[in-house]
Amino acid sequence: MSVSNEKSQHPISSTRSEQLLTLGSVLLVIAIFSIVTFLLIRERANAELSAARAANNIVQLIDADVLRNVELYDISLLGLIAASRREDLKSVSPTIRHLAYFDRATAAPYKGDILLLDNKGDVIADSASVEPRQGNYADREYFQSHVNNPAPGMFISPPFRARSAEHDWRISFSRRVSGSQGEFLGVAEAAMRLSYFDQLFNSLSIGRDSTVNLISKNGILLAQQPRLAEELIGKDFSNRPNFQRIVKEGNGSFTSMSDLYRDKRLYTFSKVGNLPLIVIVALSSDEVFSAWKRTAVVVSSATAALCVSLLWLTWVLRRELRRRHNAEHELAQLAATDALTGLANRRTLDQALRHEWFRAQRSGMPLSLMMIDADHFKAFNDRHGHQAGDEALRSLANVISAHVRRPADLAARYGGEEFSVILAETDSAGARQIAENIRKAVEQLPLVEGADGPMTVSIGISTWTTATDISLESLLFAADKALYQAKENGRNRVVDTA
Ligand code: GH3
Ligand code: MG
Ligand code: MG
Repeated sequence: MSVSNEKSQHPISSTRSEQLLTLGSVLLVIAIFSIVTFLLIRERANAELSAARAANNIVQLIDADVLRNVELYDISLLGLIAASRREDLKSVSPTIRHLAYFDRATAAPYKGDILLLDNKGDVIADSASVEPRQGNYADREYFQSHVNNPAPGMFISPPFRARSAEHDWRISFSRRVSGSQGEFLGVAEAAMRLSYFDQLFNSLSIGRDSTVNLISKNGILLAQQPRLAEELIGKDFSNRPNFQRIVKEGNGSFTSMSDLYRDKRLYTFSKVGNLPLIVIVALSSDEVFSAWKRTAVVVSSATAALCVSLLWLTWVLRRELRRRHNAEHELAQLAATDALTGLANRRTLDQALRHEWFRAQRSGMPLSLMMIDADHFKAFNDRHGHQAGDEALRSLANVISAHVRRPADLAARYGGEEFSVILAETDSAGARQIAENIRKAVEQLPLVEGADGPMTVSIGISTWTTATDISLESLLFAADKALYQAKENGRNRVVDTA
């Protein structure tokens, strides 16, 4: 283990925490986006649902209103038929008879005329006037239907344009008048003006770009509010895909492109009672989603701002983290090294020696320790000055570390002019070799100006092996003893305890 080894471990752990931070905030941003997207999608679905619900309420309202009116027409027809059968009414004045015939012709709004036809189709009673109009309706579909079908019950015609000057769209309701033997006596008929729907639709409040439409079962547009274009009324929509889908589904709602307006519309539709009519509420998508769109814009911008801030904060934090890691790393370096020589300091040496000693215990490999002391250094200092002494110590450190190259080896300044080298997995012979090399290299250092001779060092070596198996303290003591021996023996030499 060496100081340079520790160096490389710090940036790895700092990068990992930076990566964790980045990953965390990216995941957070993704989570925020997912939640917001989910909520917006749900809100959109809710907007669509409540629009469809509102449209459906309108459709139901129209349906109920129409049914009530159809009932009123039927009551009028039944009243007319019942009155026509009364013998006593045949003898009263035409005015009284007229009143009796049409007394139940209640105020169904926008009703057309109610007629009583005889078995040839001629008008014999007319709600519009006491004197019935001249006319024969035998060719009408409803008339033919009652001739051929003796069953009672109301016949509802498809929409048709009136023969009168107005040419407006109408639907007729009719009932057969049968004799006591079931023979065909005629038909009671009432016509409803479809402009009734305009008035009904008018009272509803829907969006500006949305419409309420009445369309016949076979695709003729009969009424529309707000009226987008007059010429649309009476137009055939039967081959439009949207209309075909509506006919197929009967009741319900869907969103689709409008062929007519070239925009997306939410169609809600229902058959009108048992009439051959369909009510369609077509809401413009823009209107349905306008509130949602505003919310979506605000929420997405706020979310984007939030996420950008979050990422920015992460970046700032990451930079700060890196700075701190670097500072810590530098501090750790400083705490582990000797300022003068740049070698490991005493503290690092102690740790490394303990570590290597235990490692040697486990592996059984030899461990050598070298103590190096500059010879007569006090004298060197006295002669050349402290500055030159420091310089000499640095040169000495360079020479030592140049000879200690294996990763597990460590050169350290023990203190003053003393150095120490740990040689892991090195026996005494190997250690002696390295020590000798160091000693010679020091001797070869350039002479300091004014010096009598080269700088020299004395080196003491001790080695731990499985054979000696001495304690760590004994190992240190032995190295010290060997160094002392080297000094005793005349300095500039290597002494090994082995
Ligand atoms: P010996 O050969 O027996 O080791 O003699 P010595 O003079 O080297 O031993 P001694 O222990 O008497 O003196 C060591 C000297 O090393 C004392 C001090 O002036 C010098 N010294 C210790 N640390 C430093 C240092 O950081 N810088 C300088 N310039 N000198 C130092
Ligand atoms: Mg000394
Ligand atoms: Mg000395």
